[in-house]
Amino acid sequence: MSQHFASDNYAGVCPEAMQWFLAANQSGHEPAYGDDQWTQRACDAIRAAFQTECDVFYVFNGTAANSLALASLCQSYHSVICHEVAHIETDECGAPEFFSNGAKLLVAQGENGKLTPQAIESLITRRSDIHSPRPQVVSITQSTEVGTVYTIDEIRAITDLAHKNGMSVHMDGARFANAVATLNADPADITWRAGVDVLCFGGTKNGLPVGEAVVFFNRELAKDFAYRVKQSGQLASKMRFISAPWLGLMENDVWLRNARHANAMARRLHDALLDIPLVDIMFPCESNAVFVKLPQTAIDQLRAEDWRFYQFIGAGGCRFMCAWDTEPEMVDKLAAAIAKACAK
Ligand SMILES: *Cc1c(COP(=O)(O)O)cnc(C)c1O
Repeated sequence: MSQHFASDNYAGVCPEAMQWFLAANQSGHEPAYGDDQWTQRACDAIRAAFQTECDVFYVFNGTAANSLALASLCQSYHSVICHEVAHIETDECGAPEFFSNGAKLLVAQGENGKLTPQAIESLITRRSDIHSPRPQVVSITQSTEVGTVYTIDEIRAITDLAHKNGMSVHMDGARFANAVATLNADPADITWRAGVDVLCFGGTKNGLPVGEAVVFFNRELAKDFAYRVKQSGQLASKMRFISAPWLGLMENDVWLRNARHANAMARRLHDALLDIPLVDIMFPCESNAVFVKLPQTAIDQLRAEDWRFYQFIGAGGCRFMCAWDTEPEMVDKLAAAIAKACAK
């Protein structure tokens, strides 16, 4: 079986998710548009994992989840503060601005892909006149786009600042599972108990065929969200085929097992690359990604051997991403290929 390191989205569906997908198909006819038993059960499973009454919605992908969540947190004349490498800024084709009818993203810099209270505060206080859109939301990514993880204290410092300024907090959790696995924390402790208002809880990269959950801990903000989902073409008519596979992830904590495995594979790669002199590791390896700078000749060599990886962080930055099913043998092969390419 071939495996790649370009994206955790290259991986297929994990067996547990597939099993529930098939089970949902064997139950005969079911109410459509989310009024079915599977969707009910999947929402309950997510509520149980977070130990709170929250409002849960399912959409197709992360771009829709983030954009619609952000649109529900702000008006068109507001702004959203995020990190300069945030997915919502760099990889969603302007969807957050589009779905919010023009809310502006304000980007901040910060070490290791993380926002800091200082950086956020300087954007909040920079302007207070009506000529600049008023900051209304802070968006953080957990785990981050560069594979790092916010600690509970870091999250709390950001949410405290946001709430003090009357702002809401959105968490892009496309790889939320990986962060929970790394922190070994209670999911509630790094979300609503730490002040997060809405979480886009990623399932696809964790082993689902399709589908992300938008979880509103602040239920006021979920008012009319169902209409937004429908209007944007994100309401699946046969919803059970998006929701039922979530039961496969949530039951027996398969989502955490998948994430722990992906994280362990990244750690294995990271450790194997540590001693190669020409490999420059760019960020702490805290989830399922390893970012390195490699000599151009090594990059060319790896590409010629058909290794796939993304290069989107500046000059020379290569991203190797591990998935729920990445095999240790593949990691070892990749590490050996990188060592060889760097030795030339
Ligand atoms: C993958 C990803 C998403 C979702 O992307 P889609 O391709 O729209 O599913 C969102 N945020 C982050 C940080 C991601 O890595």
